[in-house]
Formats: sequence, structure tokens, C-alpha cells
Amino acid sequence: MSPPATATLNAAQLRAVHHTRGPCLVLAGAGSGKTRVIVHKIAHLLRGGVEAPQIAAITFTNKAAAEMRERARAMVGGRAAQALVLCTFHALGVRILREHGEALGLKPRFSILDSDDVLAVLRDAGGTTDAAQARRWQWTISRWKNQGLTADGAEQAAAAADERVAARVMRRYEERLAAYQATDFDDLIGLPLKLLRMHDDVRQLWQQRLAHVLIDEVQDTNAVQYELLKALVGDATTGARGANPFTAVGDDDQSIYGWRGATIDNLKRLPQDYPALEVVMLEQNYRSTGAILRAANHVIAANPKLFAKKLWSELGEGEPVKRIECDNEEHEAERAVAWIQARRAGTPGDAPARWRDFALLYRANHQAKVFEQALRRAQMPYQVSGGQSFFDRAEIKDLCAWLRLLVNNDDDPAFLRAVTAPKRGIGHQSLAALGEFAAKWKVSLFEALFVESLGGALPRKAVDALREYGRFVNDLEYRARHTTGTEAARTLLTGWLADIGYEQHLHEGEDRARLAEARWANVLEFVDWVARRCGGEAGADGVAREATSVLQVAQTISLMHSIAERGDDADVVTLSTLHAAKGLEWPHVMLAGVNEGLLPFASEAEPVTAQRLEEERRLMYVGVTRAQRTLALSTLKRRKRGRDTVAAQPSRFIAEMKLDEARAKVDPRERLKQLRAELLAKTARPAEAEP
Ligand code: ATP
Ligand code: MG
Repeated sequence: MSPPATATLNAAQLRAVHHTRGPCLVLAGAGSGKTRVIVHKIAHLLRGGVEAPQIAAITFTNKAAAEMRERARAMVGGRAAQALVLCTFHALGVRILREHGEALGLKPRFSILDSDDVLAVLRDAGGTTDAAQARRWQWTISRWKNQGLTADGAEQAAAAADERVAARVMRRYEERLAAYQATDFDDLIGLPLKLLRMHDDVRQLWQQRLAHVLIDEVQDTNAVQYELLKALVGDATTGARGANPFTAVGDDDQSIYGWRGATIDNLKRLPQDYPALEVVMLEQNYRSTGAILRAANHVIAANPKLFAKKLWSELGEGEPVKRIECDNEEHEAERAVAWIQARRAGTPGDAPARWRDFALLYRANHQAKVFEQALRRAQMPYQVSGGQSFFDRAEIKDLCAWLRLLVNNDDDPAFLRAVTAPKRGIGHQSLAALGEFAAKWKVSLFEALFVESLGGALPRKAVDALREYGRFVNDLEYRARHTTGTEAARTLLTGWLADIGYEQHLHEGEDRARLAEARWANVLEFVDWVARRCGGEAGADGVAREATSVLQVAQTISLMHSIAERGDDADVVTLSTLHAAKGLEWPHVMLAGVNEGLLPFASEAEPVTAQRLEEERRLMYVGVTRAQRTLALSTLKRRKRGRDTVAAQPSRFIAEMKLDEARAKVDPRERLKQLRAELLAKTARPAEAEP
């Protein structure tokens, strides 16, 4: 799928690539080569003498970063590709904070809390055991942070009573994060921004360092990310040296993270904030056949237009978009398997497809399970992206908690998880007493272990067990810091697991041996993955590649969402949510569960408002435009809803695609006309091409 190094660009793409002295926005529909412009522009900048570490390309996911690095490698070679700053906003934020976070009181070895940790801290900060309440706070606080609000700002802005409570919880939550030397994901954007704004020297340093910033999927940036971009490139109007050149590419029709605070206002603000902005439109789609593109254009036409776009393809009409009607989810999974099998066999005159040519896309994570089962039964290799990731599994979270604790001893949530995985004769009562003691002395739980007077607060036996644990962690930390290279890391990690009896622990916690074994297999995979990273294997996110000691690898772990992000290019079928499929492409795509209630998604808590419908439609557009050669839309006659099975209607988006009209277009008479036109074009072309 990666383009050859000599691949061409059209005139508009070239214009975007050659515009290196000022700000540039490429605004264009799906598959028009926006991401390709970024890769080629990187190569162009390198040829023009810009050093690789001075070029920052920001992608939306770690996976996209890995893919872009691969594409860049093919064009500019391994060494330059490796030296590029190529990562997500979050990973860039980690870099900035690790280097300069001390100015904000953050140690270089701060922790990054994942969503579960955040929930635990929030429950504690808000004094509740109600998980749903904590989750609501999490969303509210995240929304505030993405709007750039601090706890102070939130308190002022809060109108309703529950918002005022949330704002108070936010304050306590922030205090706790500071005490734990920890950040949440939103902080990875917000804190670097604060840092760059407050410290002129740091800002100037980064502006000098990054000669050209390129950013993909700009339509899905939130307000804080946009401000961070501005801080990185400089302000066009007030900056002393003016702004650095930058290149943003995006498509307002593919903005699908509004629910997470992304805003297309950024697209509208760019030309205002940067009056010299060169706007380039691309209109040729190089990805999809005519039939697929027409369905996509039709469906998105139902949305109000922010920027009108035309999109055409030269790839020919291709196969009609296929409808697959299924009785229920199980039937759908069987049909999916059959659909793949048929293609694998190949049609006459067509080479058999590889596994990796297929993607099954769906709206919600839970839809993956039935497909996984069917694919496993049929012995088809697959990977799930965007769903419950490897790092969400309990056993992996245990190990990550250990590693986080090594990186940052003050990370209390990590301490609490690690000290009980496995349990080492340290009960909840001891831990609660330790917590009180630590709070009284204003130290972290880990630090509290070594405070002299702890002996007075806890029974002797508990103190001994805790201190023994503390010494073990310290020793492990020392070794992790000094262990580099794959084999040494593997030895260290397996030795550690043996020392703590983790395999045994899994068997004790699981009734069925088979499940414990599966968990242990995950653990071994994790060990292998960490060990290989310690060997300097190319990281997927642009941060880890400099990490070589076990401890350094450990610090970046919270940022990894999937073990699939190792950068493997395995020949497997992809199962993915629509959200996680953004920017990617496959020859054969099946969209599953294209039903009302699923796509557009609706629930009692989330009815289909006009605004939500537009975002769901953009999601549909994203899904359809992932397909290169064939597209299948599958619908259910009956679907599961909670514990019930209910009758299901095809999604309104199917009607909007006007598939029948498309079919009518290729009726015999039309077809003849088309053939004649094609023939004419063919005979005319050589003459035109002659000098
Ligand atoms: P999306 O909106 O889905 O992110 P995009 O605009 O980023 O799409 P790309 O992924 O860059 O599009 O390109 C889509 C496909 O078209 C890729 O396979 C790419 O290699 C190919 N392509 C883009 N431009 C050209 C070109 N000028 N010549 C040949 N192939 C091209
Ligand atoms: Mg793209």
C-alpha cells in the first residue's frame, strides 16, 4: 500500500508541497491524497536542507504515526525517517513535559494515568463509590480541560448545581494529580500549552527547534490542541519573528470527534489567525472506484456544507456497492466470513486477495466479539483495532502498574495496584492505615514506607511486609534503569515475574486453568514486546524509539493503546471501529450493522439530535471512503438491544447513498455511452501526449 518513492503528485498536491515559506491548509475530501502531501512535503523539506529533527509531523493516532514513518522511510531512508519528530499531539506533549515540565513542578519521570486510574482518583476525590457518577465527572472535567478551563475557570463557569460539584471535585482531583506527580491524557496537551505560554524561553526554544510543523486530520483537533499548534509555530500577528511555516491538512466532512471536544471552528479560525494562509483544495480521489465514491458523495451531501467540495475518481465504475441482509448478528458474522472466503478464492482474471486486504468496520466496540468468534472458527487471522486493547486487560494493567511505580515512586494509584498484584500478605486494612499515615505526613504511599515513625502507626508484621516490598521495588528499579538490550531485558522481566510468583497468582485468581493460561500468554507477549523495544526496535509513537532501558520503555507505556502498534505489518484481516479506521484504506471493506440505532447510533441516553446525526453521517462517510475496490453494507433484520432482540430497520444512510440510482446509471444504454466515451478518450490521448 505504500507508494513507490518515485510516485507522482498532481498539480494541486505539488502546490501544497512546494509552499514551504508560509502557512498552508489543504482542505479536501477523503482519499484525495492529503496524507500523501504530508509525506511528500517532508521529503521535499529534507531535500531543501531542513534537518529531520526540525520537522514535526503530527498525526491523530500512534498507528497513523507508525504508518507515516513507514511511508517516509520508503522515500527518504531509514535514518532521516527515524529522526523526524513524528507522533501524536499527546506524544509530543510528553516530550515537551519530560524536557521542560520541571518549570511546572513536574518531575521528568511523571506518570500518565489512563482512564481507569482517573476514575479511581475521581472516586476518591469526590468521596463516592458510584462508578457512573465518577464517569460523569470524568467526562465533564475532560470537556472543561479540552476547552482550556482550569478548576478556577470551571468553578466560575459552572451554572447548574451538579456542575458546581464537578468543579469542586476537579480542584481536588488536580491537587491529587499534582501530589502523585501524574497527568491525565488531557494534561498532555494542556500542560505543554501552559508551559509554552508562561515561559518565553521554552517557547522560543521549541519554535527554533521545529522549523516546519505538519499536521494531519486537523479537523479533529480540539481547542487546546489548536492553541498548542499556535504556540509551537508562533503567532502570525503578535510574534516577534512572525510565525513559522506550517502545513495543516484535513476534511471537515470527516470530523468525527465532536463528542470528545474536537471542533471544526479551528478550520474556520485558521485563515483568520493566519491571514497569509495558502488554501489548497484537492478534488481527485485516488482511492476508490466510481461506485463507492458516488455513494460517499451522496451520503455526505445530506449534511450542510461548511466548505463545498467536489470529488471525482478516474478508477472506473467498479463493482456496485453490495447489500448484505442478515437475520441477526451471528448470521452477519457468518456472511462476513463467506464474503472474505469468496474474495480470497479470487474471481477470474483477478489475483486472490490477501487477508490484509479486508476490513470489517462497525460503529461500536461490542460489535467486534461475534466477528472475532466467527473468524476464529474459520481460522482466519485477524487483529482488532480501536477496541478493548491489549493494555486494558487486567494482567497487563497489573504489570504496567509495576512499571509505572518504578518510573515514578509517587504514583499512588500504581502503588496500590502493584502492591496487591500479587497480594503479599498486605491487606486492605494495612493499606488504608498507610494511606492515612501518608496523608498526615504529606508524602506518597511509597515514601511513607521508609518514614521512621511508620512503626507506630501499623502493626509490626505489616510494616515489615511493606518495607520488604519497598526494598524489592527499589532494587528492581535500579536494575531496570541499568538494563538495556532485548535479551538482558527479557531476563530481567522473566526473573521479576518469577520472583513475585505472578503465574501462580493468575492460576489462583482464575477458576479455569485455560483462562489463567491465556492470561499468562498475554503476559509473555507483553514481556516480549517490552524486551524488543529495549533493543531499540522502531517505536510506533515517535517517543519510545529513544527508549532503550527497561525504565525508559516503561515511561511511555501508558501512551500505547494497542500491542498492534508494534508496527507489525502482519497479513491479517482488520476488525475496527469506524473511528479507529480514519485515514486508512483497504481494497475490500464491509460495514457491519448499518441499521438505525447502530449507525446512526442512538440510545435512550443519546437520542439522535440534528447535530449528532450530522456527526454520525460523517462517520458513515468515513466508513464508505475507506474502501478501494469493493464495499459491502450489511444490515440486520433483528438485532440485540441489551438482553432483548428487537426488529431492526436499515440505516437511513443507505437510502441517502442512492444505490439504486447508481445502478440505473449503468443500465445498458448508459453503459454503451460510457464505453464509447472511454474509447474516444483512449484514442485521443496518445495524440495529445505526443510533443
Ligand atoms: P483520508 O481523507 O481518508 O485521510 P487522504 O486525503 O489522506 O485520505 P491519502 O491516504 O493520502 O488520502 O491517499 C489516498 C490514496 O491515494 C493512497 O493510496 C495514496 O497513495 C493515493 N494517492 C494520493 N495521491 C496520489 C497521486 N497523485 N497519484 C497516485 N496515487 C495517489
Ligand atoms: Mg489521510
